[in-house]
Amino acid sequence: MSQQGYVAAPPYSQSQPGIGGFSSGFGPPNSSLHYGHYGDPNSSSSAPQPGPGTTPSPRMSSGHPASFQGPQLSPPPTQQQVALPPGSQVPPPANNLNGLCAQLSLPPMARQDGIPGPVSPNPNLQQLSAQPPGPGYHPQQSNYGPQMAGSQLSYPGAFPGGPAQLSGPQQKKLDPDSIPSPIQVIENDKASRGGQIYATNTRGQVPPLVTTDCVIQDQGHASPRYIRCTTYCFPSSSDLAKQARVPLAAVIQPFAVVPPNETPLYVVNHGETGPIRCNRCKAYMCPFMQFIEGGRRYQCGFCNCVNDVPPFFFQHLDHIGQRVDHYERPELSLGSYEYVATLDYCRNNKPPKPPAYIFMIDVSYRNINSGLVKLICDELKTLLDKLPREEQEESSAIQVGFVTYNKVLHFFNVKSSLAQPQMMVVSDVGEVFVPLLDGFLVNFQESRSVVINLLDQIPEMFADTNESETIFAPVIQAGMEALKAAECAGKLFIFHSSLPTAEAPGKLRNRDDKKLLNTDKEKTLFQPQVNSYESLARDCVANGCCVNLFLFPNQYVDIASMGLVTLYTGGTLYKYNNFQLDADSPRFLSDLRKDIEKKAGFDAIMRVRTSTGFRATDFFGAIYMNNTTDVEMAAVDCDKAVTVEFKHDDKLNEDSGALIQCAVLYTSISGQRRLRIHNIGLNCSSQLADVYKSCETDALINFFAKSAFKAILSQPLKTVREMLVNQTAHMLACYRKNCASPSAVSQLILPDAMKVLPVYMNCLSKSCVLVGRPEIPTDERAYHRQLVTSMGVADTQLFFYPQLLPVHSLDLKSDAIPAAVRCSEERLSEGGAFLLANGLSMFLWLGVSVPPELIQGLFNVPSLAHISTEATSLPDLDNPYSKKFKSVLKHIQSQKPYTMKLMIVKQREQPEMVFRQFLVEDKSIYGGASYVDFLCCVHKLICQLLS
Ligand SMILES: [Zn+2]
Repeated sequence: MSQQGYVAAPPYSQSQPGIGGFSSGFGPPNSSLHYGHYGDPNSSSSAPQPGPGTTPSPRMSSGHPASFQGPQLSPPPTQQQVALPPGSQVPPPANNLNGLCAQLSLPPMARQDGIPGPVSPNPNLQQLSAQPPGPGYHPQQSNYGPQMAGSQLSYPGAFPGGPAQLSGPQQKKLDPDSIPSPIQVIENDKASRGGQIYATNTRGQVPPLVTTDCVIQDQGHASPRYIRCTTYCFPSSSDLAKQARVPLAAVIQPFAVVPPNETPLYVVNHGETGPIRCNRCKAYMCPFMQFIEGGRRYQCGFCNCVNDVPPFFFQHLDHIGQRVDHYERPELSLGSYEYVATLDYCRNNKPPKPPAYIFMIDVSYRNINSGLVKLICDELKTLLDKLPREEQEESSAIQVGFVTYNKVLHFFNVKSSLAQPQMMVVSDVGEVFVPLLDGFLVNFQESRSVVINLLDQIPEMFADTNESETIFAPVIQAGMEALKAAECAGKLFIFHSSLPTAEAPGKLRNRDDKKLLNTDKEKTLFQPQVNSYESLARDCVANGCCVNLFLFPNQYVDIASMGLVTLYTGGTLYKYNNFQLDADSPRFLSDLRKDIEKKAGFDAIMRVRTSTGFRATDFFGAIYMNNTTDVEMAAVDCDKAVTVEFKHDDKLNEDSGALIQCAVLYTSISGQRRLRIHNIGLNCSSQLADVYKSCETDALINFFAKSAFKAILSQPLKTVREMLVNQTAHMLACYRKNCASPSAVSQLILPDAMKVLPVYMNCLSKSCVLVGRPEIPTDERAYHRQLVTSMGVADTQLFFYPQLLPVHSLDLKSDAIPAAVRCSEERLSEGGAFLLANGLSMFLWLGVSVPPELIQGLFNVPSLAHISTEATSLPDLDNPYSKKFKSVLKHIQSQKPYTMKLMIVKQREQPEMVFRQFLVEDKSIYGGASYVDFLCCVHKLICQLLS
């Protein structure tokens, strides 16, 4: 039976308060159901579990007005309708490790006759779809690796139009093009908003997607480069928020890089008076302050307090009540700007000194032997000329210092007056002290010859070492003490290889235990094994000491313990497994260069203020918090984002909206104390439809990832995964119940702004952090967890849904980057070559029948067989294929915090297993659900919630 399903588009314009009153919404509006309460045992058990296969087969509709953000855009409800005949039951997967869809029935799906399916905007995609089935390539029947559990549940056929693998009676193919495509959403947004100017002049305006290139013009609200919100319209009451369960959060990247064609931040200097602030709530002067009484007073937009305008700041108002100098003052007309801070904002009321960078090199046997120490020393000789500086300054004000260590610490005196550097050994690592003050931290330009001399000598000095044990915590302690003694903030650059087993504070043992996987104790693998690292982190933050850690492990090094100080101090963790000088140097050196050149704020405190009715309650990021409001960061660089969750404490006013001000007090690279202010205004509504249509899926995923990765410290991973699924279902069910037109229960209805939420949530819930498998090293999981914790929205988007580009169809004549294809095996073709990137790794996948011209062009060899999969880079060749490919690589790598490792993978060879983990729409080789399965599972939960 093929039902003639018709689903009305979600009535964005006409909300229906009559359907399902707020209080009678599904689920009691108590906190045990409210998202975020991972710690509440009732929370997971109260969520419905997938039951036996009794669900009616879903019909799917994603009604999608092309755009909906502004009155200038008309919403043509183009519809996608797919009717699904009742499905025959498919046996449940025997071993569903993800625990998501244990008893899921997969409904076969047929395209409804007469209604055209979605037209892909991507010509490559169509081209691929038109290809004949590849003979013999059946991904589900690969002869390597474990047979996937329940693989018969996967999408049928490796190639569209290919022989279906679901050969049971009445099985019809589930057409992947009938479910919402992330690529299509990305391409549609690029088509409608790309290349344009986006002005931030409207409160509650949803910005273009993070994947869309446009020019952002600050007209009163912070650029989405600095702040992205999960929704740009907050529900007006706490009950409504609990009902919708849409997290209310902002992802704040206070030092985000702004492209050259956008205006850098203005700096406001009020001299000794300092910034103007509200007397009551201490919010800074901003566009949300309302001037009254002819300009003599102003009402604070955050707490409503009426303040006097300081005489020096007085200005008359024009006929609409706006100050006549409105557009001349950044703090009145812009969303983001900086203030020069006064001494009141400095430690001990003293102006800060410029920050210092201390390079701390592990000179134990392995690092000397691998050539790493020499590599670092050689690189530093040129790199120290590139320390960041203020635009107007000739040279960097940053001071530098050098330490080497194995079981003991060696400090170096590199004072400019010395002919030779001097070494001082600290062997009492139990109580580290700094043996010299004068001459340890120097200006590189002044001490150049002594420093170069030292860097030449270090590899030779330890050339004969046989010391294999290392210390670690005392190294951080030493760096921190040195900064403290010099009374400056700064960064440590630590280059380290092994588990610190030497007798010293912070000594670690190998406690990796695969037996803990999928038990309640799995969470302990993500917790530090000793407490001393946490107190060390606290001391570092208190002294403005940020710890950047470059790790070169050959085996388990306990990232959860070793990375902790880095995480809490706003530092960056880099990891190069089994470091090989030839293969891995370029990536390491690129990371090191970028990190040293990065602009950052030091000794920073961030405070997030809100207008009345809601407040910031939770913070996720590379941060440290001593109390509930001050976000401390020893340093914060351009790539670090703090995700802030908000909760209601009263009703919100729909007229005045929900206002957020983020203020970061920090020391600049030149040693100036400054305040960076970002303001954003959101709308408020008592209509849930308004909330849903203002959602930003990429920001939602950033929030869910960070909160889930934090929750695994205290919750079993299974519970956390279930929370993600249940959360998805709850948000969609609430939408369905309150916002969509009445329709048959069997229909899955997705709000336009959350069309791709399920696919992204599935990617998150089957990420290696949340799915324990013996094949995945514990350190790798802890590493990903730590990285994601500080990521901004663009980085999490790419990380959870990698970019997959068809290389074989590159347009050699154009500069354009080809449109991506969906991350699924069926988008690959034997005759194709594909580049996959997720921000950490890149793969160049080569089909068995890839054209020889392409092979020749890229690798300068005659055939696939001649290509070495050991290679980590491609040769620079003077031909159009190579040049184009290199430019694509460069583009993909630009603006990414980590230099991606390139792996070359040939179809049907063993390493393809690694690559396939990243085809995130497919069933994971580690048991995670396919997109289709996940969608069905979520739909089933929605049906249960609604009935
Ligand atoms: Zn105030």
